Amino acid sequence: MRHIAGSLWVAIATTWLTTTAIAADSPHFGSWGLDLSAMDTTVRPGEDFNRYASGAWLARTEIPADKSIISLRVLQSDAITAQVHDLLEAAHAHADPATLEGKAGAFYAAFMDEARVEALGSKPIDGELAAINAARDRAALARLMGQSQAGFYASIFGVSVDIDLKNVRAYAISLTQGGLGLPDRDYYLEPSFATQKSAYQAYVGKLLSLLGWQHSEIAAAGVVEFETRIAKFSWTEAEQRDLVKTYNAMTLAQLNALTPGFAWSAFLDGAALGAEQRLIVHEKSAFAKIAALYQSTPLSVLKAWQAFTVADNAAVYLSEPFAAARFEFRDHQLLGQPIEQPRWQRAVRAVGSDCHGERTECFGNIGYAVGQIYVARYFSPESKAKIEALVRNVKAAMHERLEHLNWMSETTRSEALSKLDTYQIKVGYPDHPRTYAGLEIRADDLVGDVRRAAQWEWNFQIGRRHDAVDRSDWFMLPQTNDAYNGPLRDIVFPAGFLQPPVFDPAADPAINYGAVGAMIGHELTHGFDDKGRTLDAKGELRDWWTAQDAAQFRARAAKLGSQYSSYEPLPGVHINGELTMGENIADLGGLNVALEAYHRSLNGQPAPLIDGFTGDQRFFLGWAQAWRGKPRDDFIRHQVVSDPHSPRMFRVLGPLRNIDAWYDAFGVKAQDHYYLDPAERVRIW
Ligand SMILES: [Zn+2]
Repeated sequence: MRHIAGSLWVAIATTWLTTTAIAADSPHFGSWGLDLSAMDTTVRPGEDFNRYASGAWLARTEIPADKSIISLRVLQSDAITAQVHDLLEAAHAHADPATLEGKAGAFYAAFMDEARVEALGSKPIDGELAAINAARDRAALARLMGQSQAGFYASIFGVSVDIDLKNVRAYAISLTQGGLGLPDRDYYLEPSFATQKSAYQAYVGKLLSLLGWQHSEIAAAGVVEFETRIAKFSWTEAEQRDLVKTYNAMTLAQLNALTPGFAWSAFLDGAALGAEQRLIVHEKSAFAKIAALYQSTPLSVLKAWQAFTVADNAAVYLSEPFAAARFEFRDHQLLGQPIEQPRWQRAVRAVGSDCHGERTECFGNIGYAVGQIYVARYFSPESKAKIEALVRNVKAAMHERLEHLNWMSETTRSEALSKLDTYQIKVGYPDHPRTYAGLEIRADDLVGDVRRAAQWEWNFQIGRRHDAVDRSDWFMLPQTNDAYNGPLRDIVFPAGFLQPPVFDPAADPAINYGAVGAMIGHELTHGFDDKGRTLDAKGELRDWWTAQDAAQFRARAAKLGSQYSSYEPLPGVHINGELTMGENIADLGGLNVALEAYHRSLNGQPAPLIDGFTGDQRFFLGWAQAWRGKPRDDFIRHQVVSDPHSPRMFRVLGPLRNIDAWYDAFGVKAQDHYYLDPAERVRIW
């Protein structure tokens, strides 16, 4: 089956070569890749570099009513959405229904068939609701929870097929804490989120009443109380980052002993995993408490919770009352977005978006089908060649820096260098994308499409769990505007990411090094950050650091962490230096590595002056441009508790003040707000 997909891939790519040409002669921003009109040169660079680089843009830009943030990256994503939209419209009109294009087009058409969606109301989830109502005991509900990956059910424990971190050639079944409908445990427990929590309870009540649930308001109070108790037992986001503490391999018998009374065999049956004997339990101490809570919670509460979550997960695909209630709570009240996106944009997301953000967007997507169509049309071989060269230079610079790092001992250094050498950098699209063979997509059955696509993906995951790990696999779609550093010692830069302001093949190299170069460096250093450094050159969980080097690293990281914890993106709202540690280290390291790579690329010649800017100045401005953006306050509040990335203005400011070259480039002086004494500047990579 996979072989057939491979040929199909080639076929699409070949068509592209003969039919499409993407012009890349002139840069997207300004005449050499930087939008000079965005700057506010009345602000001193050391006073607020973000405003210096982007102040005029910040002043003139309004956040659109259907967005919680506007940024150049958001505009980049919007452009991709529009491109995918055109492709899906064309696929629906012309493609053979048996092909990948035909399936993507039919899925899109099903979402766009608003009249049918409205006429059906909540009927499409009748099957799930009947199964919940028919459940006679907790074991029956545990079986439904086991099905959570293959449809709309929720679960207090997540189940997935992951790479075994102690044997990276094999897959393992992972179990994680789950069950929360709000973005993070803090929303249940911190008084500062009381408004959001009571809005959530109203939302639960609203969906239950739309389902015709008896005493929906009382039931909603029970659901939120149940989740609040789960939240108390749950590990924090920062604790979940610990790869050592979250690796607890056990047998089914040991798991049963840890969580007395919880029907794991029914759960695993539901997941079609039978009596799987080896399980990696993540938040071990939370499991026993959450399982005990489940045993003591009345069946009626558990059923209401499951019914609500099914409706919540399906709401995007149901009639207006459901979709509107979900928008009102999840996008408006939680994220501050005033109005909903047009239906065609939601349709594009439903068919082919990555699982970022809310859980429901993970369902129903046949994203790799869209990806194959997308790259065939929009990713040029020239872009691929240019970015591959840039990647090689940044990797070489990282190698060089590791060789000369003064705080690292030779033992740790040689392990670090061999780890760096094993990294695969993947660009554009995967070599073996999903085939979706046998998946039925119907233009008249939206919710069924979502369910069948989720089931197909789960079957794919569990079907290969005894195979050797496929190192060519991707965990992100080609059309996604993002990048990642994965468990296969792979760094992935999808086609959707490699566009302005991240990468522009027609821009001045300093701009590209400051933007995508620093992001490549960012991903490389993730392999050595507080989390990544616990994995060795084989990608396995093993401590390869000398105690002294680990102490050096921790001290430097702590110093950087306390800088970030002192930042207030909104009055009284602080960044969590612990939660954002890995990303902040990666931003700082990425910029240092990319700056070195840029200097090496000049081959000993001085960088040209362009419009009066030096090469190093353009490099730092390229970084600031890549992160140019304006979020709503609620977006920031949401971000600081739930996102390991710092708010973007501090992604700009935070690393630069630790880099000597930035002081030299812009003449930053001791009286400037973001000046740091050389002794206070953190140097890690
Ligand atoms: Zn990162």
